[in-house]
Amino acid sequence: MGGGGAVPCRRYVLYMAWSPDKYRMGISAIPRVDFSYLQNTEGYQGMAFISPPLPLALCEYLLAVFSNQPERSGKPYRNLKIPFIKRSKNYPHSILRHKFKQVKKLLERYGDDYLAHEPVIFKGEGEAVDYFTLHQYEDIVEFILQGKILFLREIQRLLQEQGLEVDDLEAILHLLTLKGQVVRVPSVKWTANGAVACNRCGLQYRVVKAFCNEGQKECYYCRECLMLGESKPCEALYAAPARVRPEEKLVSSIRLNLDISFSQAQYEAFEALARFVRKDSLNECLVWEACGAGRPETVFGAVREVLKRGGRVLFGVPRRDVLDDLFSRLERAFPGVSVEIRYGRPRSNNSKNSDIVLASTHHALKYYYSFDLVVLDESDAFPYRANPILINALRRAKKTEGKLIYMTPTPAPDIYARAQRGEIKVVQIPIRQHGHPLVIPRVVLEKDIILEDKLLDKVVQLIRESIEEDQAQVLVVVPNGYLSRRVGELLLPRLEGLNIQGLKERPIIYTGAHDSERAKKVDAYFRGEANILITTGLTGRGDLAPNSNMVVLWSDNEIFDEGYLLQLAGRVGWSESYPGGKVWFVGTRITREMEGVVRKIRLLNEEAQRRGYLENQRIRYNRVQR
Ligand SMILES: [Zn+2]
Ligand SMILES: [Zn+2]
Repeated sequence: MGGGGAVPCRRYVLYMAWSPDKYRMGISAIPRVDFSYLQNTEGYQGMAFISPPLPLALCEYLLAVFSNQPERSGKPYRNLKIPFIKRSKNYPHSILRHKFKQVKKLLERYGDDYLAHEPVIFKGEGEAVDYFTLHQYEDIVEFILQGKILFLREIQRLLQEQGLEVDDLEAILHLLTLKGQVVRVPSVKWTANGAVACNRCGLQYRVVKAFCNEGQKECYYCRECLMLGESKPCEALYAAPARVRPEEKLVSSIRLNLDISFSQAQYEAFEALARFVRKDSLNECLVWEACGAGRPETVFGAVREVLKRGGRVLFGVPRRDVLDDLFSRLERAFPGVSVEIRYGRPRSNNSKNSDIVLASTHHALKYYYSFDLVVLDESDAFPYRANPILINALRRAKKTEGKLIYMTPTPAPDIYARAQRGEIKVVQIPIRQHGHPLVIPRVVLEKDIILEDKLLDKVVQLIRESIEEDQAQVLVVVPNGYLSRRVGELLLPRLEGLNIQGLKERPIIYTGAHDSERAKKVDAYFRGEANILITTGLTGRGDLAPNSNMVVLWSDNEIFDEGYLLQLAGRVGWSESYPGGKVWFVGTRITREMEGVVRKIRLLNEEAQRRGYLENQRIRYNRVQR
């Protein structure tokens, strides 16, 4: 199964501890630590197990079902409301039996039989816990862990990097959990409706069955975040919120060097974002921009606001090639501020807390209530889009009162819906640098799908119009590599029979995602060697030749979701030399996704119009033209 190697299936028990006047419930893999701690600090005298050894997730689930908050921190008997227990003289005994029966019954339903007929009384007096040693390391462990969520072995590694070997790390973490300074969760949890979900990446549907190395029962692990080590119901994640930094809240001056010129729309967004961080009741902000309209510096005013107050900023970076660019922009803009890259294999000196951190999805997943501002800039992420794991990770990486800014040309449907309901602030950058409105896709339908011929007839018309009237090249996007070749082979003879003016000697190039020659072919198209490129999508923002129209063929295919179509359509007309390029969605029916794209592009254009960007920018554009 790969991942972090052989980890045994660790077991926990659900227990109850009691004193003459109160009782509490808890779970533990090392009950002697609990008993010793509760005995020494709060005068508990007895302890019994009310479950057999179970994976942490199941134990957590039982605790959640059969105890309430006071029962988890110590509940006095005088507050009891259960009549049959109240009448009894021996409180602990009655409560214990009651809980034991409930747990046993539920476990039977899970097919997990608890063989004991009575709660098992813990007799651990003889084993003393060496508090002195444990205490010594508590502070350092909490300091290493603060602001992060990690497995035991990851914490161990961080300690080793600091030159510290701690034998009883699990016991120390457990103690910190008992004291409420550290949070422990199973990495895969049981949800209320009996399903399993990953606590690390937040996904449900990638958790699969597996057998653990020890223990006879089947276990689970999460496929999605496997490269971070197995996330399992029997494996704990430990977390601690970031401590307040000593310099926090003291406003200091932070210099911002911006040697760039903003468009009017970008400048307004820059100001709006700084305001959002300074004072806004909402915690999340969607920066909805036209494709290619945003730039990373738009968010730097907001970053400065946070740095001024001693806060920290996290950038979630979905792709590697954007990382170095963003890093150097930040270093240039904020001289004297520490910026750190967390990408790929963890580097040493892991525990330093830089002011600004740039992290990949997998590194972002390790932060826990740590940052005052978290930024996800998806503008350059193309062709990657809203990655739910990264968004989950960033939400957890942000302090409770921290702010999240999400910049994207293709807002995910759930985020867009929340923005519509006013739960998220929205800042729009509705117009591109060159000041022309976005191109609205035209929908071309051919209902008769059996006759592939007819569909291609339409495409031929569009190609002819593009080449003869617009003197433009045509990018034809199809759902898969097979169709790319097939359409290429069918189109070529037709075009050659038509005597189209301006048709090149080699009119069509076709390629797909798995074509090793793909980059070369795209290049040739870009240089204008062919009229038409048939492909399965764009790979980067520079892919589309400046004078291109676009045909999305079989645009009703399920692979063309709204975000994808919006990305494709948004590329057309990017160049100042041909801002009015055309986009056609050619399919056999109109999908919700196609409609959504047309509606969203219209909304952005209307916003640009309303704010007067179209007129202003056009004037500037004309001047450039002359
Ligand atoms: Zn397991
Ligand atoms: Zn996961």
